[in-house]
Amino acid sequence: MDLIVANWKMNYGGRDSLQLVEGLLERIKEPLPGEAVLCPPATALFMVGDRLKDTPLQLGCQNIFYEKEGAFTGEISPDFTREAGSNYAIIGHSERRQHFDEGPEVSRKVEAALDSGMTPILCVGESLQEREGGKAWAVVRKQLEEALEGINSEKLVGLAVAYEPVWAIGTGKSAQPEDAREMASHIIKELSYMKGLRVLYGGSVKPENIADFMALEEISGALVGGASLKAESFAQLIYWEK
Ligand code: PEP
Repeated sequence: MDLIVANWKMNYGGRDSLQLVEGLLERIKEPLPGEAVLCPPATALFMVGDRLKDTPLQLGCQNIFYEKEGAFTGEISPDFTREAGSNYAIIGHSERRQHFDEGPEVSRKVEAALDSGMTPILCVGESLQEREGGKAWAVVRKQLEEALEGINSEKLVGLAVAYEPVWAIGTGKSAQPEDAREMASHIIKELSYMKGLRVLYGGSVKPENIADFMALEEISGALVGGASLKAESFAQLIYWEK
């Protein structure tokens, strides 16, 4: 089943988040053609989670810490995001890798999400320089190895891997579908032992280009930033086939 994920990043407090949710609920009807997940800022998780109860939209979070509780001021417990209703957790987004030096702890976060009952959406992707240097797959493979190190493969059922070339995020310049297809097929081959793996594409996805990616057999969904911030465009992405 397609998985379309909205990453609102650090946009919208509680009131604005609810307004966006209302706009979306006005535009959708059950059953949805696939799964649609909203990832608001952590401060709006409970509010949005409450509003999404008994609706076909699901909740996800943008980040978690790898411990469940304790003296970790300012961190976000996976158990608490789960309590708010999150079914999914975005992990290792390139903005977290870039601004918060995230990397080695990603595998602990992937495992923590699973242990708390959430499906990780593990983000991987190369920089422009790495792509131009012919190193895209080597970089992504290393990110996958690091992110899954030490995790019992039996736990990794249904994992979503979002291939997001860093240079395509928030730039309006999406990857070539053929490049996304090639990377997705490398990922699928590398993780062929995993049951229920889904590979998503992320990077300037919008209503005008989503079909180019979703038409690819290797791609099972999209992780969307900018175009998820408006009800109209995100609703169009949910109904991309229509
Ligand atoms: C993202 O936030 O993961 C993303 C892909 O953003 P955008 O759609 O704006 O490129």
